[in-house]
Amino acid sequence: MRQFEEFEATALFCSTCKQAMPVNKRLLLILPDGELWEYLCQQCGNSVGTKKVSSKPAILFLERSPDFIGINSNPDAALSGTGENRDSGTDSY
Ligand SMILES: [Zn+2]
Repeated sequence: MRQFEEFEATALFCSTCKQAMPVNKRLLLILPDGELWEYLCQQCGNSVGTKKVSSKPAILFLERSPDFIGINSNPDAALSGTGENRDSGTDSY
């Protein structure tokens, strides 16, 4: 297995060292939808950047929205059985 995560941030520009420096990757925060990583310069320990890595596909949860259920929740039409006809009748009345 290839080590993509280590490869992508081997060196980042450090404002203190004035050049791209090898960095240490450190887990900063665990978020509800991912992780926040911090990159520290191996030379001076300065924080040279952070990166958020999404671990959970939040889109999957949005697909099942409550609105989808609301479309069919029309007790009026279900009881009368002629809910649609009543609407058009009013139009020509
Ligand atoms: Zn540095």
